[in-house]
Order: sequence, then structure tokens, then C-alpha cells
Amino acid sequence: MKTTSDIQKSEQNILHTYNRFPVVLEKGEGVYLYDVDGGKYLDFAAGIAVCALGYSNDEYKQALKDQIDKLTHVSNLYYNNPMTEAGEKVLKASGMSKVFFTNSGTEAIEGALKAAKKYAYKKAGHAGFEIIAMNHSFHGRSVGALSVTGTAHYREPFEPLMGGVKFADYNDLDSVKAQVTDKTCAIIMETVQGEGGIYPADPEFIKGVRALCDEKDIVLILDEIQCGMGRSGHYFAWQAYGVQPDIMTCAKALGSGVPVGAFVLNEKLAEASLEPGDHGTTYGGNPFVCAAVSKVFDIFEKDHIVEHVRELTPYLEQKLDALVEKYDCFAARRGKGFMQGLVVTGRPVGEVVNKALANGLLVISAGKDVLRLVPPLVIEKEHIDEMIEKLEASL
Ligand SMILES: *Cc1c(COP(=O)(O)O)cnc(C)c1O
Repeated sequence: MKTTSDIQKSEQNILHTYNRFPVVLEKGEGVYLYDVDGGKYLDFAAGIAVCALGYSNDEYKQALKDQIDKLTHVSNLYYNNPMTEAGEKVLKASGMSKVFFTNSGTEAIEGALKAAKKYAYKKAGHAGFEIIAMNHSFHGRSVGALSVTGTAHYREPFEPLMGGVKFADYNDLDSVKAQVTDKTCAIIMETVQGEGGIYPADPEFIKGVRALCDEKDIVLILDEIQCGMGRSGHYFAWQAYGVQPDIMTCAKALGSGVPVGAFVLNEKLAEASLEPGDHGTTYGGNPFVCAAVSKVFDIFEKDHIVEHVRELTPYLEQKLDALVEKYDCFAARRGKGFMQGLVVTGRPVGEVVNKALANGLLVISAGKDVLRLVPPLVIEKEHIDEMIEKLEASL
């Protein structure tokens, strides 16, 4: 088996920060992936909610190839039109005001935190502001993003992290209110918590947080890195709640496979936060990744991807609910659109995930007991049926 020797070689070179599945993936087609020994997998993981268009989409590939032939990088000292076009499309989809492109979700969070801090600094003329984040949140692994990530064991080895962060309970407005002081500058949360176990925001909660932020001029940062870009059945999950963030972060499916993120500001923040010299990135928004972002939006429009998610969601939910009904090991389903979680009881979720892999189905976990389904957004009914079949065979 080529897989075994390839894995051995990889482990000799690559720092072991992940306990990887014993699979070496080589190519993809549609919603299927293939390993180096020819094994075929139905993909309900999408590279952790990244590959919205699945694999080997001709238009997407051609756009990237064309851009490579022209130019891949210029730095932010110069203008480049793919960035301008990608920016225009992000703003059209979100109805927000200005965008800054980053290389990852984590960096989008860093930028969002800096923008919020700068807004408060400019307003009050002094620093030292606090940020309220949520328990069980995930915002990334850099020092700033880790500081607002609500899982203690991710944070502890690296403390002291950024100061002035307080944690509240998600979907508990009173616990958020209890953390507000006259120094609070921002509240940061995912619109649908992902890594923490697939928890959508309650409408009353997110509306309550928005009202609280309006009342006290606190910046609301909504992290749409995982739930955004159509996955919830809306371009951005907050659009379903009738609220708007002051800052939104985006990544994962934004480039559908190239490393790109963004933080997006509303008009208030765009006018009174980061200024020339306050923030930068060498690679961020380069023509290569932005050609991908731009094409992703084009394909989303042309193929009605967001509508497709919304149309197919009831079918997916109904099939998953039937599993919860049928099997004792599934205690509940939670989620929005194509971001769904099944709560696993009586056995480790890892066991189900591993058996699914052996049966040719890629799924992942979230939190400590949730089986997470974040497929490419282009799956069809038949793929949902196949997923259910393979999952049932894995129990
Ligand atoms: C994945 C993720 C991040 C971090 O993004 P990276 O691209 O891994 O840096 C931040 N927030 C949420 C909600 C995520 O799912």
C-alpha cells in the first residue's frame, strides 16, 4: 500500500500537531475524493467547510490557471483588479461597506479585533478596552484569535494571551450583559458555533446582543468563517436573523480552496477605525486568491448555489432527523443549512467517524460528541442518500 509508506514519510517531515486520518488524498472530482491507492470517498467534510464547489470545477480551475498565466502576487503597495472585483462581490453579497483581504480565518479575526479596538480608541482617546467572547467558541490559533477562543485547553499552554477578554455563555443574553463594563469595546461570536459543536444562535439572543451593542456603542463582530458563504442557506448566516454585524469575518469557503479570508466593515467602522499604517499583510488579497474569490461568487450566482442549499436543506434535515429517531446513539440534530451536527451518545464520536471513513464517507467531529456534516454546497439528493446509507453502515 502506497498509503502506508506515504504516511511514514510525511510523519518524518511534518510537525505532528494533528492526529490525521490514515488517508493520503490525491485528487477530487465533484463531491468525491480519491486516495493514493485508488480509494474513493464521498466528501461530507469539504476540507472543513472550505470546498463549497466540490472538486475539479472546470470554471474555477480555468479562472485560477488564467490568473497564474498573468500574475499571482504584487503586494499591497500596488492596486490589482482581481482584488477590487472580489471586494465588490463581497460587499454586494453582504451589504456592508469595506473589506480587507487576509490569508486565513485567523488573520481575519486579528484584523477584526484591531478594527474594534481602534474604533474605541479613537472615540475615547485612550486604550485598554475589553472584549467579550463566548464559551465554546472557536476563532483561530494565533495569539489574538486564541485569546477569544472559548475552549480553555486550547488557550492554557500559551497564556498569558491578549488581556481584557471576558467569556460569556452563548445563547444566554444575561450572561453577556453581566460581562459588559464601560470598557467593553466589542462582542465577538460565531453566528453558528462550529468547532464548539454546531450551535446556531437563538434569534432572541442575537437580536438581544445587537440591541445591547447599539445601546452601548459596542462593536458586534460576527464570525462567519465557517457558517458563511451560503452554507446556512443565506450568503451570511446573520442575514436570516435580520441583524447586521459591525464587522464580519469570512474565510473557508470564500476562496473554496485557496487560502483567503476577509474582514468586512460596516460604514460606521469603515469610517472610524483602521487608517493607513494601522494594518497590513504582504500576501493578503493577492491577484491569485482574489481571482478565485471573484470566480466563486460568479459561480454562486450563475448556479444559484445559495438557493440550492436552501432548497435541499429540508431533505437533509429530514433524513438526519430520521436517523436520530431510529438510532439510540444519535441524541439530537442541530444546525443550519449544510452545517449540521448529530449528537453522538454511548460511543465516542471518533469511532463513528473512523468507521464512516472505512466505508468511504468523510465526516468530521465538532466539540466532544458531535458528528459534523459540512459537505460541498453542490451535493445533490443522491449524495445525501448515499451519505445516510454509508453512515448507517458505520453504526
Ligand atoms: C476555521 C475557523 C477559524 C479559523 O480559520 P483559519 O483559516 O483556520 O485560520 C475561525 N473561526 C471559525 C468560526 C472557524 O470555523
